[in-house]
Formats: sequence, structure tokens, C-alpha cells
Amino acid sequence: MNLPEESNNKEYPTSKDDSASLENLELSSPESKPTVVQGKKRLDIRDLTLSELTEQLKELGQPTFRSKQIWQWLWQKGVQSFDEMQNLPKSLRDVLTDQFTFHTTKIELAQYSSDGTIKVVFKLHDGNRVEGVLIPTSKRTTACVSSQVGCSLDCKFCATGYLKRERNLTAAEIYDQVILINQLAEEHRGKKLDNIVYMGMGEPLLNYQQVLKSIHVITSPDGLGMSPSRITISTAGIAKMIQKMADDGVKTHLALSLHAADNESRSAIMPINDSNPLELLAESLNYWYDKTGVRPTLEYTVIAGVNDSIEDERNLAKFARKFPSKINLIEYNPISTADYQPTSRLDDFADGLSNQKLIVNVRRSRGKDIDAACGQLALKSR
Ligand code: SF4
Repeated sequence: MNLPEESNNKEYPTSKDDSASLENLELSSPESKPTVVQGKKRLDIRDLTLSELTEQLKELGQPTFRSKQIWQWLWQKGVQSFDEMQNLPKSLRDVLTDQFTFHTTKIELAQYSSDGTIKVVFKLHDGNRVEGVLIPTSKRTTACVSSQVGCSLDCKFCATGYLKRERNLTAAEIYDQVILINQLAEEHRGKKLDNIVYMGMGEPLLNYQQVLKSIHVITSPDGLGMSPSRITISTAGIAKMIQKMADDGVKTHLALSLHAADNESRSAIMPINDSNPLELLAESLNYWYDKTGVRPTLEYTVIAGVNDSIEDERNLAKFARKFPSKINLIEYNPISTADYQPTSRLDDFADGLSNQKLIVNVRRSRGKDIDAACGQLALKSR
């Protein structure tokens, strides 16, 4: 599980591997290529924007209103095939089937925890797998979704960090996770989703365009119509992109996976910190707050002997005061690929911060009886 400057035109690559991704961010594609069927290249219809779809339908001799109808089937009703688009004539559905592909996402495996958490492995059209989670509490029904297949950021406490990054997800693949987790919520809890967190596999800000497109279709009236204030983007901390989110007027909440509040300790467990140290992150979070008025959340997973000392507590308090913030202290879920354990000091740590008048929430581990840690189930499913 994971859960957001410096000034002015400086480049802050995340790591050697990711500098290219950042330079090409505006064009960051989902890396899906047109599918070739019987010698013909076919685009996934959900890779198109509304105006591109309208243009393509015009070329097929279709009236403009059809593109709006199709768009609503795709993004409002979340259908998984052309055949479900019932107000389209059969002849048009046949043309669409001939001209486009419709990549779909399936639930391959679901694990049910006694606390109501449901962890899901999604199988994508190309055989890759990502994870999502339904997290029901008395107050909310939350979906945690992935943004990349694997992750390049190599956080030492995270099972996904041990999975090589394969590719970015498309907006449609992110949207599918939401639709499918919502179906599970309705089926098993009798409730619709009311929150979405981009805290699953991958770093959302390294798949910026597709993440934003997915938020657009989740929040727009022609999509699922959900409020952006019900969505949280969680980043391991790419200062430049936090600033960009603020500049782009992104209306979601923002969480920083902090997990250590001095550079040496943080770099040891999160290599991204080498190129995006705490000073830059504090500047970018100040920038975010000044522009949006939304307090960033600091996610801090407390790990025994790693970041749970009194000094760690002091460092966290000092960092959290650099801008208006709230702190989520998270109970650690052990993973099979690293030798970290949860702390026994979680409550003391929380009390110490609360006594300093900081806003602190403790997030107990959910789904302890299933493979709760992010990436753990996908790792097993390989
Ligand atoms: S390795 Fe990737 S998915 Fe895991 S915590 Fe780090 S940024 Fe998040």
C-alpha cells in the first residue's frame, strides 16, 4: 500500500530509470498499441477522447449524436462490450466491432477478509495483473485502485516495489477497477462506493495523463458523476508533479507516502527520496496548499525499529508543521519479500503527535487474514 517545490523550472527526476518518464510526461501513453486483427490496426475505443470518437464516427458516416450515446455507454454505464449498447442499431454495433477493439478487465481472483475487506486481482487484456481493494468501514465504502502494472520506485517495505514496472494502465483500466469494485460493494455490502483512493500498485504521478483522464470520466456528469473531493491521489513524492497538479487545478485530495521524516531514513526505505528530498516535498506541498486550500495528508506506516522512535516522532511533527497537514499513521502489513514488522508503539506514537496538537488518525491494518499488503496477492498470482 502506498498512499505529494521548489521553484522554477528545475528538473527533479525521480531516479535514473524514471527521468525519461518525467520528460515525456505530457505524452505519457498508457503504452497500449493498436491491436492488429486480420491485418487491420484497430484502436481501443476507450483510448479515444470524445472529439476523437465524434470524428471517427463522422468518417464512418454516423450522425454526431451517436458519439454522445456511445460515450455514455462507455463511461456512464460502464458496459464491457458493444453488444450491450442497446440503443444503437445492430448494424452500427457490427461496424464498431469491426473498427475498434474493446479491451476489458476481469476479476481473476478475490480474497474475502472477515473484516469485510475484499482484495481483488484484476487480469488485463494483455495478461498483466494488478490489484484493487474494497475497504468497507462503518462510515465509508472505499475502493483502492492501481495506476501501473508493477512499480519502478522500489520502496523497500512494499511488495509492489519488488515487482518490475511493466507498463502504465490506461484510464479505462483504472475506471474498470472502480466499476468492478463498485459491483462487489453493491453485491456484498449493499452499498455503492463513496471514496476512491489511488493507492494501489504503481506511482500515479508517473502515469499522470491517464490518471487525470480516469478522474475526469469518474467525476464528469457524462461519466460516473462522483465528486472529486471523494478521490485521493497518493504519491511517493514527486515534487515537480505535485506542483503540476496544483497548477492544473486538480480538485482531488492529495496524500504523500512519507514513512520517514529525515532524509537519511527516508532514502533508506524510499529511494525516490534521493532525487525528491523532504525540503523539495515541503515546498511542493506548501505550493499545493496555497493554490488549492486542501490540506495534504501525510501517510506514515510505522515499522518496528525503522521509523518508530521518539526521534522519528519529533521529525514527523517538525515536517508536518511546515504546511497545514493531517497525519495518517498506518499499521504495517508484513510482506514475504522483506523482513519488516509492525511496531508495538503505534498508539504511543499517535498520542505523542496528538499531544503536540497535530491532526492524527490511526489506520489499523485491514484484511489481516488475507494478503493485505499492496502487491502481495499479485506477486503470488504471477
Ligand atoms: S514501490 Fe511503488 S507502489 Fe509500492 S509504495 Fe513505493 S511507490 Fe507505492
